[in-house]
Amino acid sequence: MNNRVTELLGIRYPIIQGGMQWVGRAELAAAVSNAGGLGTLGALTQPTPEALGLEIERCRALTDKPFGVNVTMLPTVNPPPYARIFEVIIEQGVRIVETAGNVPEQVFQQLRDAGIVILHKCTSVRHALAAEKRGVHVVSIDGFECAGHPGEEDVPGLVLIPAAVSALSVPVVASGGIADGRGMAAALALGAEGVNMGTRFVATQEAPVHAKVKQALLDARENDTRLIMRTLRNSSRVLLNPVSEEVLKLEGRSGGASFEVLRPLVNGQRGRAALESGDITNGVIWAGMVAGLIDDIPSCAELIERMMAQCRDRLAAAAAQVGA
Ligand code: NAD
Repeated sequence: MNNRVTELLGIRYPIIQGGMQWVGRAELAAAVSNAGGLGTLGALTQPTPEALGLEIERCRALTDKPFGVNVTMLPTVNPPPYARIFEVIIEQGVRIVETAGNVPEQVFQQLRDAGIVILHKCTSVRHALAAEKRGVHVVSIDGFECAGHPGEEDVPGLVLIPAAVSALSVPVVASGGIADGRGMAAALALGAEGVNMGTRFVATQEAPVHAKVKQALLDARENDTRLIMRTLRNSSRVLLNPVSEEVLKLEGRSGGASFEVLRPLVNGQRGRAALESGDITNGVIWAGMVAGLIDDIPSCAELIERMMAQCRDRLAAAAAQVGA
């Protein structure tokens, strides 16, 4: 494929593995990049900026292809040292950064000055336009179906993707709700120039999570995710399990629940332990509605090649239907 996204990122296929907390480590990012997509390391997954530097080096040892680093700027229990994180990314010569959340204008400027290609992930056309004005190179628009933080406006991809494409001049990557070549074909037909996937990449051979987590994604149907932390305006899509049910119960109480009450249930360290130990009933597991579309655990290379073949088939079949 050849379009603005493949050219800007220097990749073969416009299939991006989005940054995922505790999952976006070197083995996964390198596998995606080696398969022709764009792998992404999660900056906040590393305990310190120095550890992030080492993880970037580890990824470089595993692939000679481009990869990115995700930096998410949303509420956290312990505020990350963002200034040092961006310094390390620049010192390490990273060429691509995926940002998400409330990114200050000077950060975009700092990254652009360093010659870094910025993909900004956001959940509304309004925020996408603001990011474009601040000079991001690509907008990754995240529909309501997505794992993690879908924002508070609840617009699904079928509307959000073309709305973003119409409003923006920079290329748009479709994120949320995509797990296979059918979704990719749909996203391209809606005007996107690439796709971003998270949950689908968790159910791959190379994803560094316990096999029981991958099995839980295989078992889940499309209606097996829940939105927690809506009452705090920090909505988060996670798998249905006893922890997310307990959070919803506390949020549903008269007067709701403060973050301090929810923290023991939702904190990232507990979610990390669940991902690593396979005790999937004992922490929040981020997942998108596409869990209902996942029924195997391929390697990243198998997944990407299969997606490209299915995407081409679907686009050709659709063209034949309309008489092209
Ligand atoms: P954490 O342990 O700091 O926080 C756990 C959850 O509580 C996160 O969803 C966080 O946003 C939320 N939170 C923290 N403080 C809050 C507050 N004062 N008010 C309301 N909500 C609060 O998070 P972590 O698991 O170590 O993750 C680090 C960062 O990565 C967080 O900002 C998290 O939101 C983000 N993240 C993003 C995604 C995504 O889908 N983009 C997925 C996982 C984590």
